Amino acid sequence: MNIICEQNENLLSNRRKDVDSTLRKLGTKFSDRRDKHLGYPYNLDFDPRPISQFGEFLVNNLGDPYVGSHYATEVCDLELEVVDWTMRVWECADPEEYWGTVGASGTEGNLWAIYLARETLDNPILIHSTEAHYSLPKAARILQIEALTCGADRSGAISLDDLSEVIHANRHRSIILALTCGTTMKGAHDDIASCIGVLDQVGIDPSRRFVHVDGALNAMVLPFVDGLPSGIRPSFRHGVDSMSTSGHKMIGTPMPCGVLVVRRDHVRRVASVVSYLRSDDTTLMGSRNGHAVLAIWNRLMRLDIAGFRNSARVCIERAEGFAGALRSAGVPVLLNPWSLTVVFPKPSERLVNEYQLACDGNSAHAVVMPSVKADLIERFVNAYTAEWRCNPQQKVFS
Ligand SMILES: *Cc1c(COP(=O)(O)O)cnc(C)c1O
Repeated sequence: MNIICEQNENLLSNRRKDVDSTLRKLGTKFSDRRDKHLGYPYNLDFDPRPISQFGEFLVNNLGDPYVGSHYATEVCDLELEVVDWTMRVWECADPEEYWGTVGASGTEGNLWAIYLARETLDNPILIHSTEAHYSLPKAARILQIEALTCGADRSGAISLDDLSEVIHANRHRSIILALTCGTTMKGAHDDIASCIGVLDQVGIDPSRRFVHVDGALNAMVLPFVDGLPSGIRPSFRHGVDSMSTSGHKMIGTPMPCGVLVVRRDHVRRVASVVSYLRSDDTTLMGSRNGHAVLAIWNRLMRLDIAGFRNSARVCIERAEGFAGALRSAGVPVLLNPWSLTVVFPKPSERLVNEYQLACDGNSAHAVVMPSVKADLIERFVNAYTAEWRCNPQQKVFS
């Protein structure tokens, strides 16, 4: 008997003939769209050539990055270099007391951190602000943790008064507090030091709390700027338990990925030895993307601290110029200090599509990543202000 009926077999083999032309068309479309991308915080300014030679290998960092596995085509040693680099940037006092990994994304970092927190604490609740990324309430649903939201101020940062109220009302519980370094929509920075101060004041001691910092957006920006208020610095010195970032945002990789760093005691609790792997089962995914490790490692080692410093400075200046140009046309703009996210009233659908803007209600934003150069900003500002002059939106965005 045929496995596939004749009609389907014909359909499928016709499709096979289209593969090359489909891929060619896709490449043309991508290069066209990449050059006008403004809305998502992706640094598209990377050179894939040094790592493209590994396209012929299945690079799989199976199991725990510190242990490795029997599979030889892996780069766990480079993963540890990435993690060590990140730990130093995030000011881990003694890297030996921390554990880290390169994962699938900022979302995976958040999910895994909240899982480790749940395994550490007794029946905890998760608290995050209304401006936190949607992956945090999602993590709470997946892990069946009760989640409470607390308000944010106009800048998008967590409200300390609200936080104090929510913590006080739950002072008999164990608390997972998820803070954000660079909120998704407004690029705001929660004051980590003050939030931990609130936990202390209410009497939630370190044995009853777990503080995670979601730094997907800006934990690879703020460590490299001058004059930063210490409270918002993404740093383990505040006494946080875990911190994560995305690899495809400020770092700049050709695939989604992320880095997570956690205090090592929290990981020990969940580690179980799996003999099939010859490794510890300490990661969400068993097979892990080694190409992503190569991509992040290549970026960190090449750019180095000086490169990130330079990128952060150039991007902040460009974002300020961008905001200034819109403001001089009478457009209300939000640009938080040390942020690359320029928020303005949502323009027409045409501009939203053309520049791939991310929107929320009646506001939209552009994120000035290193790949967003002056000429792209100028083109967008001209198009936006031309529209604005014909039809100044009455609504002020919220
Ligand atoms: C982008 C982002 C995430 C999610 O990261 P992914 O790598 O896209 O999964 C989480 N939190 C914040 C604040 C983000 O900006």
